[in-house]
Amino acid sequence: MGFQVAIDGPAGAGKSSVARGVAQVLQISYVDTGAMYRSVTYLALLQGVQASNTCQLEKLLHQIVTKIDFQVVQGEQHLFLGDMDLSDSIRSQEVTRNVSTIAANSLVRKYLVQKQRDLALSWPGVVMDGRDIGTHVLLHANVKFFLTASLEQRAKRRYDELVKKGFHPSLTELMGDIERRDQMDIERDLSPLRPAQDAIILDTSCLTQHEVIEMVVALCRLRMTQGEA
Ligand code: C5P
Repeated sequence: MGFQVAIDGPAGAGKSSVARGVAQVLQISYVDTGAMYRSVTYLALLQGVQASNTCQLEKLLHQIVTKIDFQVVQGEQHLFLGDMDLSDSIRSQEVTRNVSTIAANSLVRKYLVQKQRDLALSWPGVVMDGRDIGTHVLLHANVKFFLTASLEQRAKRRYDELVKKGFHPSLTELMGDIERRDQMDIERDLSPLRPAQDAIILDTSCLTQHEVIEMVVALCRLRMTQGEA
């Protein structure tokens, strides 16, 4: 098994940016598992497949799971389905509002968790971010983090990101969306959002992204040297 880093936490805690930065510094691969749940949600919405229709859902998963692929485009990781770049489509508000319902489905989790484990095994090192990486997907990860921040901070970060992209979001709506999504992710039966017992919990409310990356990298390096000793 290569060196594995698990990063979990609620929506908007900065997991993806931190995971990407850490992977870059440590020169290992990065997998955004949220993007995988989003891509299934996007396709289910597009094809009118309901989570309750097990036959249709399994057919959809069977068709797409081997085609989900990550590629770097101009320095950014993009999610592809075959040769279709879905990176923008999976960030729509419609996908964001429906993703937690799809992610609570046992079939969806079975297919995606298998894919995530296969991906992790295929690389010499990986940083994976999501909700259940430390508690389920990579139970034996070398180091596990749980990133949190206050709801206000997380909504504000999302708000700033969207404004930068030219959107005009409402901060109150964003806060409500984040809170609802967290609630569903925490309360679901399968792999609910919670820190792994052996996770390092980092409250990033008062830290910059750069500071969080530095802390996570330092702790990973420490674990690497402990592993060699
Ligand atoms: O990370 P992101 O916010 O893009 O994740 C979208 C949704 O996908 C989460 O709210 C959660 O419902 C689901 N998810 C999950 N398990 C993961 C990653 C994401 O259930 N490992």
